[in-house]
Amino acid sequence: MTPFPLVLSSPSGAGKSTIARALLAAREDLGYSISATTRPPRPGETDGKDYHFLSAAEFARRVAAGEFVEWTEYSGSRYGTLKAEIARILGSGRHPVLDIEIEGARAVRDTFPESVLVFVVPPSAEELMRRLGGTGGTRAASLVQRLRRAVEELKEAAVYDYVIVNVDRTEAVATVAAILDAESKRPRRNPALEPDLAELGREVGALAERLTLGAEA
Ligand code: 5GP
Repeated sequence: MTPFPLVLSSPSGAGKSTIARALLAAREDLGYSISATTRPPRPGETDGKDYHFLSAAEFARRVAAGEFVEWTEYSGSRYGTLKAEIARILGSGRHPVLDIEIEGARAVRDTFPESVLVFVVPPSAEELMRRLGGTGGTRAASLVQRLRRAVEELKEAAVYDYVIVNVDRTEAVATVAAILDAESKRPRRNPALEPDLAELGREVGALAERLTLGAEA
């Protein structure tokens, strides 16, 4: 099966990163696309694992060198998907998982039309607020900025192939896994299926032929 990018987006705090982490831990057919960013690491984040943390100058150099599939400005920092990340994961036969915002999701689909875009929404405004409050180091100004951005992002949900309401994490993870499995069965993602189907068709045809001859005899 030809691997395809799985793009997960959500308003900040709706839970897509947790879903992505749980999926990656549970399945070997996925690889996390480590984005580059100019924002400083949060406590517990590791360079080269959660993000490639770059200086503004290094980020700009890589933009100029054409190293990004897409990049954007978010809450005063730059974030971008590296071409090398996607190539590395596709090259290993796995689906790249991208945890990116909506502009990036659109751009990824332009470059990789076979991508599957999943939008995760919170069950309520209160729950979103609660989850954002739990994000380490989020200051009040940036919290308001993230909530305002969430309002804009919610208007764009129809851009996505699937929308999931994240009521329960385990259930949300199972739903994304089901989406992956169903998408994997599309014939266009399975070119190797064509000769197998042709062979099956020949065998069924031969069987019908034999039965017809048997009935005539
Ligand atoms: P955070 O600072 O909370 O890790 O991420 C802020 C936002 O940037 C999130 O919505 C996240 O999905 C998005 N983001 C992370 N990496 C990328 C990227 O490579 N490209 C784009 N377009 N957005 C990204």
